[in-house]
Amino acid sequence: MAGGSNREGKGLPPEGETGTFPLQVCEWDRLSYYFVLAGAVAHPETPACHLMPISPTHLIRCAVLVPILLLSPPPGSGQEVDPQVYRVDAPAPEGLDREAAARETRAILEDLIRIDTQNPPGNELAAARYFEELFGDLEGVEVHIHETAPERANFVARLSAESPTRAPVIVMGHMDVVGADPEAWTTPPFEPTERGDYLYGRGTIDDKGMLAAAAVVFRLLARDRAALQRDVIFLATADEETGGAEGIWALLEERPELIDDAEFVLNEGGRIRVGDGRVRTVNIQTVEKVPYNVRVRASGVSGHGSVPLPDNALAALARAVNRVHEWRPPVRLNETTRLYFERLAEVEEDPDVRAAMEGISSATDPQEVDRHARVLQEDPLHNAILRTGASLTMIEGGFRSNVIPSEGEATFNVRILPEEDIREVVTEMQRIGGEPSVTFELVGDPVEDVPETSPVDTDLFRAMQTAAEIMAPDAVVMPFMSTGATDAQATRGAGIPTYGILPFPLVMEDELRMHGDDERVPIPALGWATEYIYRVLGEVAR
Ligand SMILES: [Zn+2]
Repeated sequence: MAGGSNREGKGLPPEGETGTFPLQVCEWDRLSYYFVLAGAVAHPETPACHLMPISPTHLIRCAVLVPILLLSPPPGSGQEVDPQVYRVDAPAPEGLDREAAARETRAILEDLIRIDTQNPPGNELAAARYFEELFGDLEGVEVHIHETAPERANFVARLSAESPTRAPVIVMGHMDVVGADPEAWTTPPFEPTERGDYLYGRGTIDDKGMLAAAAVVFRLLARDRAALQRDVIFLATADEETGGAEGIWALLEERPELIDDAEFVLNEGGRIRVGDGRVRTVNIQTVEKVPYNVRVRASGVSGHGSVPLPDNALAALARAVNRVHEWRPPVRLNETTRLYFERLAEVEEDPDVRAAMEGISSATDPQEVDRHARVLQEDPLHNAILRTGASLTMIEGGFRSNVIPSEGEATFNVRILPEEDIREVVTEMQRIGGEPSVTFELVGDPVEDVPETSPVDTDLFRAMQTAAEIMAPDAVVMPFMSTGATDAQATRGAGIPTYGILPFPLVMEDELRMHGDDERVPIPALGWATEYIYRVLGEVAR
């Protein structure tokens, strides 16, 4: 280990220098991690991460310890999940074989990951054909492939109840995924890869995992069609990741009859959060913030870089965008967010934060609301729920280092509270920006009919709450406003109450991999999700 010709490459000192050498922790590779760990065990008195003496005895001890340590993954490598989290004490619901369902969900998910549906371009037609095949032989099921553009399609399967007494329920997911940079991933993004307790692959948690679980449940329900009180519609959409024009919006425009008799929709968009080895919260999405982009343009006098001008478009742009960046729009709560903070307080451990959550959920006096908001807004996730948010996402300007340009441009991605009016928000951004030569303007048109919040007193919401209470009795269930947008905007807009869940209990670190590199799902969460959806759909459809 100490010899070899590539010593420098391993961060080792040049040959000939014996004794001690520094190991830089930040640059370690896997092998040097084990080497250091073995050294620490062999010489507990040595601060191993800084200096490690080499001696023959040391090397012998390392030679024994390294193979042992190699058998266990390094602590903090994050490949293990706590099995406790996914253990359900309640007996399996009738008709569900837990192991078989988990196995089947995984198999379908792996198939879906291999179908590359990066959007753009999407290519969802291939996934739609896959579902057509998967459901093709089920009795009582009618399938439709709704092509919206070359290689792009929505997929709808309707399982008909023999004698329905109620309107259909839809379970919906999207087939497209965001792009993945194979260089940045440690596994091939379109090849399902098992590592530790996880399955890696693009789409595992957004949203192919949910589609796989829903597909298994759909097939199970089809086996016992006589028990159904309503039709069950499986809807797999295209183009969710870029706004749904070739997906849900096209379906509602061109083939509304395939889905518009439904009473409600079960969709993505909620969260099941894990902390301290248990499921802590089940957030059922009932409303979303409304997304917009606002373009900022600055103009000024152009000139040669050798003669600085007081009036510089880029400087004005920088001042204006910075003021808006630092701006905190007013705090505004709605029924969902009030209930959200009230329930979240039940599992919050920090006493100050808990008091602020309790306080804000019942406060009516604006000053009191602001006082609590000041505590909560320290957490960016809470902050995004309290108010409209504007994130600076793009900035452009200049074309040559010695030329003062006459213009510059920036973009804010703005997510407004559903009760707010984007026109007023843009006017306010203009005022806050405070630069006469800088203008703020909305990209596209305002959404005229912002969909209503889906009510919490429906059979579907109740079934989602009940299933969560059975499977995770210690968790707190709450309605949730998501800061991102999904296809629910379209279905709610069509007047169909829509409820979002991400049916996998996840720790925050895994949840944040959505759209990021190394997206992954805990393998035991697959069976959990399938059982959850089975309980929910079984409850409302039978
Ligand atoms: Zn999604």
